[in-house]
Amino acid sequence: MKTTKFHLQTRKETPADAEIISHQLMIRTGMVSQLGSGLYNWTPLGLKVLRKIEKIVREEMDKAGCLEMIMPTIQPSSLWEETGRWDKYGDLLLKIKDRAGRDFCFGPTHEEVITDFARKEIKSYKQLPITFYQVQTKFRDEIRPRFGVMRAREFLMKDAYSFHLSTDCLKKTYAKIHQAYCNIFERIGLTYRPVEADSGEIGGTGSHEFHVLADSGEDAIAYSTGSDYAANVEKCEVLAPTKQRKEAIAELTVIDTPNKKSIADVANFLSVSPKKLVKTLLVEGVDFPVALVLRGDHELNEIKAANLKQVASPFTMLDDEQIKMIAKCDAGSIGVKDLDCYIIIDRAVEIMSDFITGANQDDKHLTGVNWDRDAKFNQVADLRNAQAGDPSPDGKGKIKIARGIEVGHIFQLGDTYTDSMNAVVLNEQGKSQHMTMGCYGIGVSRVVAAAIEQNHDDKGIVWPQQIAPFTVVILPMNMAKSERVKQVANNLYSDLTKLGVEVIMDDRKIRPGVMFADAELLGIPHQITIGDRALDEGEVEYKSRKEMQNVRIKLDEIVNHITSLL
Ligand code: ATP
Ligand code: MG
Repeated sequence: MKTTKFHLQTRKETPADAEIISHQLMIRTGMVSQLGSGLYNWTPLGLKVLRKIEKIVREEMDKAGCLEMIMPTIQPSSLWEETGRWDKYGDLLLKIKDRAGRDFCFGPTHEEVITDFARKEIKSYKQLPITFYQVQTKFRDEIRPRFGVMRAREFLMKDAYSFHLSTDCLKKTYAKIHQAYCNIFERIGLTYRPVEADSGEIGGTGSHEFHVLADSGEDAIAYSTGSDYAANVEKCEVLAPTKQRKEAIAELTVIDTPNKKSIADVANFLSVSPKKLVKTLLVEGVDFPVALVLRGDHELNEIKAANLKQVASPFTMLDDEQIKMIAKCDAGSIGVKDLDCYIIIDRAVEIMSDFITGANQDDKHLTGVNWDRDAKFNQVADLRNAQAGDPSPDGKGKIKIARGIEVGHIFQLGDTYTDSMNAVVLNEQGKSQHMTMGCYGIGVSRVVAAAIEQNHDDKGIVWPQQIAPFTVVILPMNMAKSERVKQVANNLYSDLTKLGVEVIMDDRKIRPGVMFADAELLGIPHQITIGDRALDEGEVEYKSRKEMQNVRIKLDEIVNHITSLL
C-alpha cells in the first residue's frame, strides 16, 4: 500500500473526552471515528487490525472444532419472552418495532436465537456435542458508553454456543474452549489472565473471564501470591475471620454526631479507626427490605449481595424517602439496633464487639454496641469485596489486586435456556431430554483497544506483530527530489510485497519529521528509512518500533533481514 492511495488521517490533537490512552491513540491514528455516543466507524486502517484479530479467533475456534455460522442481529421479542429476559435484561436491550408494530430487539447476545436454532435442527444425541460460533455486531444500550470502542454501544463480538447431552461433556468442551482462548490471546501477543467469574445475568454455574492486565481496566482482579487462584473481585470469596468475637465491655451510649454522615466523618469526629464502625445499607428485598451491614473500612460487593436469596434482583438501594420510612432517619445515621428489616451482616461484622453504629436518629450514633445484647441479625454472609492482604480463598497465600480489561467470558450454562425454551433431543434410550449448554464470548473490537493499552509508548502505538495493520513501513526521504531514493524505495516495496509482506510506503510529499512522527504514532513494527546519505554507502536504515534503535543494513541484505524477523 502506498500512503497516497490509502486513507490515512492522523491527528495531532487528543480529543477532550478520550480519557484512556487506547481511545486517544485510536482517534489520533484515525483507526476509528465517532458517529454518535458509543458508535464508531472503523476506517480502513482500524479495520485491518480488527480483521487480523478476527482471523486469529476464527482459526483457533475452527481448530477447537467449532462451526461458524451467522445469526440475524434483529431478534423477535417472542424468543426473549420465552426466557423471561425481555424484561429482565433491562435498559441495555434496544427494543424496536417493525412496520406491523411487532416487537424486536437488536441482539446484545444470542442465547435465545441459537437455542431456537438448536431445538429446530438437533433431534438426536447422535448430533451432539456441537458448537456453533459467529463473529458479529452486537448492540447494548450501555448507560455510560466510554473509552471509545472499549465500552461501545455497537461492538463486534465472537460468540459461541455449545450443546451437549451431559454436564461431563459440557465440561470437556468448556476446557477445550478455555484452551482455545489462551491460544488466541497468546497469539495476539497479550499479557492476560483467566479468572473465575460470576455468571451474572446470563445464568448457569461455572464461569471464567479472560482479562488483559492494564491499569486502565474497569475490573479488579484478585489473585493469590501462593497459588494459581485468580478471580474477578466480584466473585472472589472472603473467608470468615478465624478470630473469635471478644466479649462486650463497653456500655451502650447515644452520642451526638452533628452533620457527621460518612464513615470517615464519624471516625474522625470520634478519633477512632473506621474499623470500629459498622455501616448499614438498606436495599430492596424479595419480601421485606434488607439491611446489609459491613465494617466501616470494607466495601460492599453488590454482586455477592444480589446473589443472596432475600435480596431483590436487580440490586436496588432504597432511596432517601424509603430510608426515612424504615429507619426514621437519613442515610448517614442508620443503625442495626431495633431496625425493622431482614438484617444480613458480613462475616467480618459477626466478630465485632463494642462497635459504633448509627442510632436511627438524625445526627446521633451509638457506641459500645454488641450483638445479642443490643442488636440482632438474621444472617451472616460474605458481603464485601476482597482486598489486598486477605487470605486467598483456597487457603494458599494472600490476595493481591490488579486491574483488568475483560476481553472474554465463558460460561457453563447448563439447561437454563434449553429448559425455558424446551430444546430437547432423543437420548440413547430414545427418551426426550433437555440439552446442556455452554456459551463463550470474546469482545473482538474491545481486544483492539486492550492491545493498545498494553502496547504503546509516548510516541504512539507499538503493535504486536501479529495484529499490526502493516508489518513494514518504508520511509523514503525527499523522494520527489531524489530519483535514486524513489527507485530503491519502489523496488524494495515490490520485493517485499511479492514475498507477501504487508508494506506501507509513505510516498507523501511531506517533511521527514512529519513522516517519522506518523510512522511512530501508527506503530508499524518494522521501519525502513531510505535516504541519499546511507545509499551513498550502499545502505538503508532499519528501526524496530519496539526498540527504537537505528541500525544501518546493506541494501542487498535488507529483504533477508526483514524476512528473518517475521
Ligand atoms: P462488561 O462486564 O465489560 O460489561 P459483560 O460481562 O457484560 O461485559 P459479556 O456478556 O460477557 O460482557 O460479553 C462478552 C464479551 O463482549 C465481554 O467479555 C467483552 O469483551 C465484550 N463486551 C461486552 N460489552 C461490551 C461493550 N459495551 N463494548 C465492547 N465490548 C464489549
Ligand atoms: Mg462478561
